[in-house]
Amino acid sequence: MKSQNVRECQTKAKKIVVKVGTSTLTRDGKPRAQKFGKLAESISRLLEADREVVLVSSGAVAMGSQTLGWSGPGKSIPEKQAAAAIGQIELVEVYRRRFAKFNKHVGQVLLTRSGLEDRERFLNARHTLQTLLRLGTIPIVNENDTVATEEIRFGDNDNLSSAIVNLVGADLLVILTDVDGLYERRPVPGQKKSKLISLVEHVTPEIEAAAKGSASAFAQGGMITKLEAAKSAARSGAATVLCNGRSDDILERIVAGDEVGTLFLPGPKMSSRKHWLAFTASTHGTLVIDSGAATALRTTGSSLLPKGVLSVEGQFGIGEPIVCTSQNGEEIARGLPAYGADEIRRIKGCPTGEITGVLGYSNGDEIIHRDDLVTLDH
Ligand code: GLU
Repeated sequence: MKSQNVRECQTKAKKIVVKVGTSTLTRDGKPRAQKFGKLAESISRLLEADREVVLVSSGAVAMGSQTLGWSGPGKSIPEKQAAAAIGQIELVEVYRRRFAKFNKHVGQVLLTRSGLEDRERFLNARHTLQTLLRLGTIPIVNENDTVATEEIRFGDNDNLSSAIVNLVGADLLVILTDVDGLYERRPVPGQKKSKLISLVEHVTPEIEAAAKGSASAFAQGGMITKLEAAKSAARSGAATVLCNGRSDDILERIVAGDEVGTLFLPGPKMSSRKHWLAFTASTHGTLVIDSGAATALRTTGSSLLPKGVLSVEGQFGIGEPIVCTSQNGEEIARGLPAYGADEIRRIKGCPTGEITGVLGYSNGDEIIHRDDLVTLDH
């Protein structure tokens, strides 16, 4: 009974981000024609049932490498980027043709983490995506691999997909991959299959430890990045279903509420701005805070006052995202400060009443106001 209820987050989802990985879409770099066709059909049906779908698709590097006659994804970063530039056209062309059969238009959206780190560009991307959805089209999102060297080295579309969940305010993230979901232990070929976890209420350190390992030569993320994506989606108030993209009717089964793959429940929803601050923004400096301030931020959601600040690292201006850490370097919170680094160096440790005396002016009592501050999970 319980499992039927929890799967309501699948049946009731109105705005869905579907992330599909390279291994699901391609074999030896060649597109699996039937898979593209089936995806287009399933997503078109979702749209006809009044749902909105953003598709985050990998596969550019693999398809470009295949076109170039390479057996792998290219050795150097520029080679991978060149392969992505070639493969991206092919990838989107396959989708365009497949969706056209269902009278649907697709839009290509190439994003980078650094693009979304900037609040203004984040909001611009949001408006474009929302407009594409309103027009009844399917945005096809991928990393802009030409400029995103870090993406090819360390990045992955799992994290990109959860940033999109926050960007569009989706209520469900579906990660289609080449395993059935999250296992209690990592499956090892030739060994007895470990048990599939069908429901995760919170991603715990034990779950993370069980998920170590990596994916295929072309794909960037492994299970860890998928857990990160599910955690981030949960903080946007969205559920995540991690499941095998090989089975053709998987999207239909998900929205019908079937118990497929692993369902990660949504957490308490953070505002989109705070989510952006916690998961997407890049930080410009660090405030080391004392244990009293750390406890106050974590437990009572208070603002950060000058007297809790022990030291300031880096150079940043007012409103530029920064990190607050404990003395042993543990990250406690992120926030947008009301004072720049040099000002905080002068007022750290002061009672709030002395700010004007020291600086000659005041931007308020708080170094970071609670509305501009987000604490991180541990
Ligand atoms: N952006 C890459 C591609 O389209 C894939 C990244 C990933 O697999 O996570 O090939």
